[in-house]
Amino acid sequence: MQVETQTDKWLAIRRGLKGNCPKCGQAKLFRAYLKQVEHCPSCHENWGKVRADDGPAWASMLIAGHVLAPFFYFITFRTELPDWVRTLALVLVGVGICLAVLPRMKGLFIAWIWYTKAPTS
Ligand SMILES: [Zn+2]
Repeated sequence: MQVETQTDKWLAIRRGLKGNCPKCGQAKLFRAYLKQVEHCPSCHENWGKVRADDGPAWASMLIAGHVLAPFFYFITFRTELPDWVRTLALVLVGVGICLAVLPRMKGLFIAWIWYTKAPTS
């Protein structure tokens, strides 16, 4: 019987954040931007059954909002810039943060769901 330790949990989460298989860390967890593989080619863990649903999107918006808020104040008071430049900067930075964070959050949620053996549908 395998004994789970605290280190195993954080190791699985780190692997998920990197987009690697939370169980073995030897293969990629995603075959496309957000499309997870059905099975790990290295350890054969079944990832197709793990559904992160809206959790990664929620976490990404939470992080993006906290990062974007200081940038919003910074760019809003740059009155020497035209409105369209400030608006474009906010949109690009906001979208960029979301696109960068979302796959990491999905990997984290998949790792956490797998580690906790949460029921999957
Ligand atoms: Zn694996």
